[in-house]
Amino acid sequence: MCIFCKIINNEIPSNIVLENEDFLAFHDINPKAPIHILAIPKIHVESFNEVSPETMKKMTTFMQNVAKEVGVKKSGYRVVTNVGENGAQEVKHLHFHILGGAKLAWSHLSDADPRNMI
Ligand code: 5GP
Ligand code: ZN
Repeated sequence: MCIFCKIINNEIPSNIVLENEDFLAFHDINPKAPIHILAIPKIHVESFNEVSPETMKKMTTFMQNVAKEVGVKKSGYRVVTNVGENGAQEVKHLHFHILGGAKLAWSHLSDADPRNMI
């Protein structure tokens, strides 16, 4: 069973901010911003590549509620999902990072300089 399925099953503790029948949101253990929440479906879906539009429809509302719950709805935030190897996805259970609480940098997204690829 994957690490996020263990969190859903309460086999690993987490700091939950919002939960419903289908989704769970909890604080990232290694935050990269003052607010760093992970939102996940309770069914095991490997990544954004596999998720259904039906799940995403409900997940959109859930993540909007998470942003409200943690107080970043008005100040702004970033939603990120890493996919596969080049996306640097470490946990193979779909999760959306919701980052905020400070002005976020946008400069360093790749270890490769895109100007070298032209
Ligand atoms: P990825 O790199 O797969 O997009 O992100 C995985 C995220 O999960 C990382 O930000 C990492 O800090 C977080 N993470 C990994 N294991 C745990 C855990 O056991 N508990 C919590 N709360 N976060 C975790
Ligand atoms: Zn899982």
